[in-house]
Amino acid sequence: MSGPDKPQEPPSLYEEVTAIGYAEAFANACTAVPNRRGVVLMGTCPRCGHAMEYPLVTQVFQNTTLPGSHALPAPGEEHPLLCTCLEAHPERPPGEEGCGAYWNIQLTRSSS
Ligand SMILES: [Zn+2]
Ligand SMILES: [Zn+2]
Repeated sequence: MSGPDKPQEPPSLYEEVTAIGYAEAFANACTAVPNRRGVVLMGTCPRCGHAMEYPLVTQVFQNTTLPGSHALPAPGEEHPLLCTCLEAHPERPPGEEGCGAYWNIQLTRSSS
């Protein structure tokens, strides 16, 4: 799969980092695709720039009622996201995926 195009930068080393601006950069570019269990956020990792997708299982939360607890997440609740790109990043531990970048997004639930 090696083409004539040289990558502009070598792949980033796997590193568990976050930064201000990751969430906003991701949110600005991502698309939320509903599926049976919730939504899949499809976008681009703000750190490594690779395509990634991240499933959010919102239906479980909505259908789960724990006695004596607030069952539903509040609108705007933060969800942790991490890079799940399929590209290789040096020094990535076995079983991990992506480049290690992580950030929180706020889910705003559409009224239904
Ligand atoms: Zn990547
Ligand atoms: Zn990444």
